[in-house]
Amino acid sequence: MAQILDGKALAAQVRAQLETRVAALKARGVTPGLVVIRVGDDPASEVYVRNKERMCQKLGFLSEVVHLPAETTQAELLARIAQYNGDARFHGILVQLPLPAHISEEAVLAAVAPEKDVDGISVNSLGALTRGGSGFLPCTPKGILRLLDSAGIPLRGKHAVVVGRSAIVGKPVALLLLGRDCTVTICHSKTQDLRAITRQADILVAAVGRPKLLDGSYIKEGAAVIDVGVNRLESGLCGDVDFESAAPVAGYITPVPGGVGPMTIIMLMENTVEAAEKTL
Ligand code: NDP
Repeated sequence: MAQILDGKALAAQVRAQLETRVAALKARGVTPGLVVIRVGDDPASEVYVRNKERMCQKLGFLSEVVHLPAETTQAELLARIAQYNGDARFHGILVQLPLPAHISEEAVLAAVAPEKDVDGISVNSLGALTRGGSGFLPCTPKGILRLLDSAGIPLRGKHAVVVGRSAIVGKPVALLLLGRDCTVTICHSKTQDLRAITRQADILVAAVGRPKLLDGSYIKEGAAVIDVGVNRLESGLCGDVDFESAAPVAGYITPVPGGVGPMTIIMLMENTVEAAEKTL
């Protein structure tokens, strides 16, 4: 039976470390500040933004949520970002995705000053990740690596299979695993015989958004299984991995909820503290 990779418990440990860093910053007159900008009324975004705001408050950050109407123009949004780029009270700016279809996600993310891109998903930060530069790491991939490391799971030379190739999870986590000397395979919706590939994975990351797509038959005995998926069913939240059939086969597995989700939020907080520390 797999060992549970408990993201909630690990996030609580990281939080305790951050509290010390926040206290040290405040002693030097700096309060970490994060502004979250949300456009429109995507219901899942509302929950994510609220969770981020709550965590900011728990950590004693300066926290601001800007909720703009769905009709906001791209120019108006860019102007707000420029305003916060120039506001020294805020060390991090997060634009909650998705944005309404008339706004270019790429243009908006690129407008966030690199030193404030604590979400780490702008072209600038992802470029730095590709080139081995010094941008902020995207929160979900960073949290996944932290979970693997906390359990002492060896990565060098291992075969990592990432299912999903989005710019915010699949691609950057593949790059991070590559950077840690994994041999990486990235799968997506056009991949043929997905099962034959995932069954070779020592590390399997599922970032798809399809409830229980990967059952136990997709998993290699003893593999570390990271389930990023958050799918809302009538019966509640579930991941992309069928936990019931996967857990007896895997060596390690993240639950949903309580796995990757709490790590994503705490990594955002960590990046914001880092951004604030860099201003000293
Ligand atoms: P996207 O929708 O952007 O990407 C999904 C990826 O899955 C695409 O690359 C797609 O392939 C691939 N895919 C779709 N269907 C299949 C299939 N049948 N077989 C193989 N691959 C498939 O999603 P995100 O990366 O943004 O998010 C993925 C999941 O993770 C979602 O459930 C999301 O809610 C969750 N999430 C959770 C976070 C957390 O903190 N826990 C943070 C971010 C996301 P193609 O490119 O060919 O279309």
